[in-house]
Amino acid sequence: MILRNDAKCAAMAEKVYGAMKDYKDGVFLCLGTGIGGAVFMDGKLLEPKRYSGFEMGHMVINKGGRLCSCGKKGCFEAYASIKALKTKVTETLDMDSDISGEYLREVILKREVFENHNEVVIQDLENFLEYLQTGICNLIDIFEPEIVVLGGSFSYYEKNPIFNMLLDKINAPKTTFNEGEKPKIVTAEFKNDAGIIGATLI
Ligand SMILES: [Zn+2]
Repeated sequence: MILRNDAKCAAMAEKVYGAMKDYKDGVFLCLGTGIGGAVFMDGKLLEPKRYSGFEMGHMVINKGGRLCSCGKKGCFEAYASIKALKTKVTETLDMDSDISGEYLREVILKREVFENHNEVVIQDLENFLEYLQTGICNLIDIFEPEIVVLGGSFSYYEKNPIFNMLLDKINAPKTTFNEGEKPKIVTAEFKNDAGIIGATLI
């Protein structure tokens, strides 16, 4: 039996049954504790021979930046994972960081960003979204997908205005090399269950 990581399983579910089913070229990003991903080209999952590859979370987006769990500095996931956002916002608010992603999204961000207009938390959120946009646009430039699917805990941001803030940043001018139509950016249809559904496909 071939063991595949959660991000690849989730990507398979989205490709076969979910958000990517009508597309041949797609990038799947799983945003949670870290950032994982998978890429489909011409309908096929790209798989290197040597290591698993597609460690999107560990591409460096800030040279000499924050220490990542992998030991490198400045990795994408050290800035743009849901864990990174949670750590920063709870630090700003001097709170225990051991909260659920749902609490962060539905209570803290809603209250501090959209109701209290807390400038410091808004800046934390803006920084997070800018790093997320940077990483996504790097992947768009490399793979030229027709669609980018955002899964993991971020799939629960589907109806949250924060998702539109991200879209505005990605769709702004001069964020990608090719200035034509940007790929479609959506959240994962199967949310956090995608990994389990995908595991049955292989
Ligand atoms: Zn790393």
